[in-house]
Amino acid sequence: QAKAAGGNTVRFFNAGMQADVMERVHLEADLHQALARDELRLHYQVQVDSRARVTGVEALVRWQHPQRGLVPPGLFIPLAEKNRLILPIGYWVLETACRQLAKWAQEHGKEALTISVNVSSVQFHQPDFVARVQQALEETGANPGRLVLEVTESLLMEEPERVRNIMLRLSKLGIRFALDDFGTGYSSLNYLKRLPLDELKIDKSFVDGVLDDPVDAAIVTTTITLANSLGLEVTAEGVETEAQHRWLLEHGCQAFQGYLFGRPLAMEELGLDETDTILS
Ligand code: C2E
Ligand code: MG
Ligand code: MG
Ligand code: MG
Repeated sequence: QAKAAGGNTVRFFNAGMQADVMERVHLEADLHQALARDELRLHYQVQVDSRARVTGVEALVRWQHPQRGLVPPGLFIPLAEKNRLILPIGYWVLETACRQLAKWAQEHGKEALTISVNVSSVQFHQPDFVARVQQALEETGANPGRLVLEVTESLLMEEPERVRNIMLRLSKLGIRFALDDFGTGYSSLNYLKRLPLDELKIDKSFVDGVLDDPVDAAIVTTTITLANSLGLEVTAEGVETEAQHRWLLEHGCQAFQGYLFGRPLAMEELGLDETDTILS
């Protein structure tokens, strides 16, 4: 079919690819302006315990583009990692989250909530990463014990000795670490043992399958057992249905995040004042 169509098909694909490239070029040019124009936004998604009380939130960046509307991170974070704009973007996210933590500390009942911040490998491997995190905490007055840094398996694999060193220095400040998208990468059990991790986040792709895919179910139960044995918290990501939630509870999972409990929203829209939160 494609061959029979000959030149037309080729032109069709080229046009599509070219549009794609143009799109990226435009986005990239605009991204340089995004910070200066104050177009980045943080949305927050609640994390809940086994009794559905809010224990914290994950900060998820969005780009409020003047023409395109709200651009999700999947469309610009990979671009930003390539052109290193992830550095200023990443620090903006960190500072904004720390400012929110400091604000909560003044608001009765919210001082115990945590904020989880996604850290890109490019950012983590900057020589001044520890200093920049410390600076964000000091300048905002945020409690380091309420900050969780989410890292990925691939981040941990680059220069593991260095990674361990940086994590240990940040842990000493009281910062906690969560391993995001657990099970999708190639982390070895040896890293889990050697690194100061506090939490494993079970990737949504496995949560999606727990009810009808025995392999996903096995991966999830194994992860929960592993986390329990290693003394790590375990959070199920992307929980969308009551049935998934029930299954996860029955299999020993104690922390949850997903549309079932709330979508990522601007802080004002989150309604934390009306929700049951953990106070201690
Ligand atoms: P992530 O850290 O694994 O975040 C979870 C993603 O799953 C978020 O997508 C969230 O909106 C989505 N999600 C949560 N619950 C559900 C659910 O029940 N159903 C479905 N369908 N989706 C759900 P989002 O906000 O588009 O972020 C995508 C990824 O972009 C994040 O995955 C993270 O890797 C990256 N990202 C987001 N913010 C930042 C940031 O500030 N810095 C860096 N470096 N990466 C970020
Ligand atoms: Mg948490
Ligand atoms: Mg995350
Ligand atoms: Mg994740």
